[in-house]
Amino acid sequence: MQFSLISETFEKMEATTKRLELTQHLVDLFKATPSDVISKVVYLIQGKLRPDFEGVELGIAEKLAIKAISKSSGTPVRKITEAFVEDGDLGHAASKILEQKTQTTFLMQQITAERVYETLMKIARLEGTRSQDMKMKYIASLLNDATPQEGKFILKLIMGTLRLGIADNTVMDALAIAYTGSRDNREKLEAAYNVSSDLGRVAEEIAKNNLAGLENFQITLFSPIRPMLAERVKSEAEAMEKLGKEFAAEYKLDGERVQIHLSEKKVVLFSRRLENITSYYPDIVENVSKALKTTEMILEAEAVAINENTGEFLPFQELMHRRRKYDIAKTVEQYPISVNLFDVMYLNGKDLLNAPYDERRRRLEETTTENDFVKIIPKTIVRTENEIEDFLENAINSGCEGLMLKALDAPYRAGARGNNWLKLKREYRNELGDSLDLVVIGAFFGKGRRTGRYGTLLLATYNQENDTFESICKVGTGFTDENLDQFYQILQERVTLKKNPRIESGMEPDVWFEPEIVIEVVASEITLSPVHTAAKDAIRKGSGLALRFPKFTGKIRNEKSPEDASTDQEVIALYKNQKKVTQGISES
Ligand code: AMP
Repeated sequence: MQFSLISETFEKMEATTKRLELTQHLVDLFKATPSDVISKVVYLIQGKLRPDFEGVELGIAEKLAIKAISKSSGTPVRKITEAFVEDGDLGHAASKILEQKTQTTFLMQQITAERVYETLMKIARLEGTRSQDMKMKYIASLLNDATPQEGKFILKLIMGTLRLGIADNTVMDALAIAYTGSRDNREKLEAAYNVSSDLGRVAEEIAKNNLAGLENFQITLFSPIRPMLAERVKSEAEAMEKLGKEFAAEYKLDGERVQIHLSEKKVVLFSRRLENITSYYPDIVENVSKALKTTEMILEAEAVAINENTGEFLPFQELMHRRRKYDIAKTVEQYPISVNLFDVMYLNGKDLLNAPYDERRRRLEETTTENDFVKIIPKTIVRTENEIEDFLENAINSGCEGLMLKALDAPYRAGARGNNWLKLKREYRNELGDSLDLVVIGAFFGKGRRTGRYGTLLLATYNQENDTFESICKVGTGFTDENLDQFYQILQERVTLKKNPRIESGMEPDVWFEPEIVIEVVASEITLSPVHTAAKDAIRKGSGLALRFPKFTGKIRNEKSPEDASTDQEVIALYKNQKKVTQGISES
């Protein structure tokens, strides 16, 4: 397959922000893609080479890429660097330089998608002292045979700056249309994606065997499952309304969600975002199986930082010290944790996803012998508001955030947020303390003490139906000086030349970001807003919803992907639940 088919599609996609058009471009591309290349094409569209959990990364520095462009075009490094600084994107800069070159030389051979992919894989696998030079040569060899447009997208893929403005949902829509003729089959693809977390593999199956191919998707040890998510409720009464007469209540711990896959020989850990985080927790790898009677399992747990002397839970931030590449042994000692199990999805060859919660919990209890390090999250059965309230009190007194309320007969719905799991946090119950997880989409430069940094951030909720991020407030309070530096560092890497098409906002900040970073915010109330687009038209035609007096809590939710942020639907529910609904229209 010619790589030009891909680069032409990417070019068209960059030129539009309309979801339907984006989907149609992908459908056309998929229809022209042979089934033995489709998985590779899908990974490239996702801006990766393999599914996240395999951790395959290119690791190319800008300097090296510039050297490669120089080698292939004969243009001095200095000139390329200048073009890059002016343009802000190495892909664009390279295409201009290659443009000049192609006027004087003939292309020897057309470049194929397979060749681009395999070369990038080779680059990712290279290690050792001579690897930098080899990487540079591989890139240069690709560029030698590439047209300017192809060169542009090869560099964007290499540098991780491909911005097509689409999420996995759009890719699944397009696959469903291209291979089954109907978008309605998206759900079937999604089910396969949920248990495999590998969209390339899903694409290959549907391309080769149509819908029948999806039946082969089963839970597999060491392939992460997309996690089941919870809806929030504001009160015990609301929980009773949604879950009925009798259900389970578990403590909700404030740590990091860990999906544990273990066999007799191996333990692998995945984060909520399905990255392989095994290296951060050597203590889990070493000790978890000591508490388990069975050898082949997929479990879910909350890893929580603890005070070793008292066994008390410590705040979530403590755990973030574990996220480092070096000196792990030291941090393991410095920041001890406990592993708190709450679900089992696979047990000795048996897929438990369709087993009801009740049975999964029973099996979890049967196979676990608790010790100081491995615990099962406390649970009780509740039937009345009073019983929930009592258990919530206990949870808060033990240092938990609140409760998770779970339907006894519900299966594990991978990848789904629904009413079978509800979260009840204490703070939701007092009107002025609601916390929301919001996506940073833009910023305004600071003044005074904040000059040279971002003074105010523009935040958004996630709209699941449209797969967009809609602005809900500006936030400028709650930041320490350290936070301001940290935000500048993290966010400046995510500045985009133009607004990502998934962002909807009536505001024009100084800079736009890729919607990637999620932060926690509290606010005094939710009001109608003429400028913000979150939940637009849902309460009143022409108005969106905004947060009043928002404040950053100090928590950057690294473990959350932007699609895990609070949704417009949650905000609508919070708005409706406010005791005193403010009818006024807020200014910001
Ligand atoms: P939130 O991050 O507020 O959406 O809440 C969901 C998160 O709570 C999950 O991703 C888990 O990391 C965490 N959690 C803590 N305790 C439990 C529990 N008992 N059951 C399920 N999730 C839990």
